[in-house]
Amino acid sequence: MISFEVPAGVANVSKLVHGLAMGVMRKWARWADDHEHERCEEWVNTMWSLSKGGMMGSMTGGLSRKKKEDKPKEEGEKKKEVRYQNLIMAAAVEELSWGDAGLYLAMPFMGLGGAAVAAAGTEAQREKFLKRFTTADKPVWGAMAITEPGAGSDTAAISATAELDPKTKEWILNGEKIFVTQGKSSVEDSEGFVVAWASRDRKAGRAGIKSFVVEHHTPGMKVTKVEHKLGIRASDTASIVFEDCRVPYENVLGDPEVKEGFKGAMATFDATRPMVAASAIGIGRAALERCQELYEKNGGKLRYGINPNRLTSAERDLMMMESQVRVSRLLTWKAAWMADAGIHNNLEASVSKAKTGKAITWVTNKAVELLGPVGYSKQELLEKWLRDAKINDIFEGTGQINTLVVARRIFGLGSKELR
Ligand SMILES: Cc1cc2nc3c(=O)[nH]c(=O)nc-3n(C[C@H](O)[C@H](O)[C@H](O)COP(=O)(O)OP(=O)(O)OC[C@H]3O[C@@H](n4cnc5c(N)ncnc54)[C@H](O)[C@@H]3O)c2cc1C
Repeated sequence: MISFEVPAGVANVSKLVHGLAMGVMRKWARWADDHEHERCEEWVNTMWSLSKGGMMGSMTGGLSRKKKEDKPKEEGEKKKEVRYQNLIMAAAVEELSWGDAGLYLAMPFMGLGGAAVAAAGTEAQREKFLKRFTTADKPVWGAMAITEPGAGSDTAAISATAELDPKTKEWILNGEKIFVTQGKSSVEDSEGFVVAWASRDRKAGRAGIKSFVVEHHTPGMKVTKVEHKLGIRASDTASIVFEDCRVPYENVLGDPEVKEGFKGAMATFDATRPMVAASAIGIGRAALERCQELYEKNGGKLRYGINPNRLTSAERDLMMMESQVRVSRLLTWKAAWMADAGIHNNLEASVSKAKTGKAITWVTNKAVELLGPVGYSKQELLEKWLRDAKINDIFEGTGQINTLVVARRIFGLGSKELR
């Protein structure tokens, strides 16, 4: 039987986080956009005290993929109860991004770095690196550094290296990473970490790639640039250089001896792509709701259920925007739910990301168009939402790359056969 009922735990989180988004984030949204590279202290401190108080616990513990052994072994065997960690996270991210997507990315939180540890790390690594997000004395951030000047969409082309020093049993990292979300915060401003992808053996291609946890302030790791951006300006996006940066042996995520490092690293995307989609949905919903409010304030009334030929052009646009937000959410929640249920969701994660990135870019563009000069001016947040939305079609795999992943899964082709 198919049930579309939202579990009570998920609905409660949405409600709780919505209050926060409305009360704190909306208040600071414009300021944070105008003051790029400045930290919004009220927001950071609020979120940090909530993390420490355990309120955000379900979020920091989320983004995990159940291990194979958690799956029922035989057909008909009673399934274990599903804990909706990923679904709760998707609901919370939507609300936070409804408040402000830049502030959401900038909040002290495990971020992509923590997500990588949750998805590819061992139990001991999760304990060591994730606990601090609820116990440290000051705000902590986590970042993930994959992209390089010569490797973006083609992650297998990364040239950063990790060489093992046989004497000290430490990894020595060398290379340059660019566009690292919350990179500066993770390296310089907290007791956080960066998960950096590097190759142990460049001749081995993908098989040689592993992810390494590099602790804040590790000698040899340096922030060299912080980007100025079109949108999500509250969040820092940094370039990081690794120069003979020594990392303990046990900081390689997963089993150091297993050669399938790339697969483990890629598994992170199955958990994080639905969250990027959820963030886009929050922005799109914000734009849609504001347009609906203004439409009704000006005497309009949306006539659902009548013959589409009798709809006004504005009604048709608003309904199309709503349908795009809703379909995006259904796809995203399906991918998140599958992760919770321990079902392989590589296809669905990319479907949600590819569809939502495009859909919400269209929705926010339409919102500005509908409101004309008001939408384009700073009187409203609509122009900002248009700028913020676009990133969701770029990071964590561009729209084109996620479409490629979808095609590969559907046709059963590998990356060598379909590129
Ligand atoms: C604000 C921001 C934050 C970011 N945060 C992070 C982060 O935290 N960590 C991190 O590692 N990276 C991050 N990135 C980098 C981001 O993931 C990359 O920009 C993205 O993967 C694209 O890579 P690229 O920029 O090298 O573009 P390219 O790979 O050079 O692609 C350029 C264009 O060509 C298209 N293209 C490429 N290959 C194909 C193909 N085979 N078929 C069809 N089209 C193709 C792409 O879709 C794109 O439109 C961030 C980027 C930005 C802008």
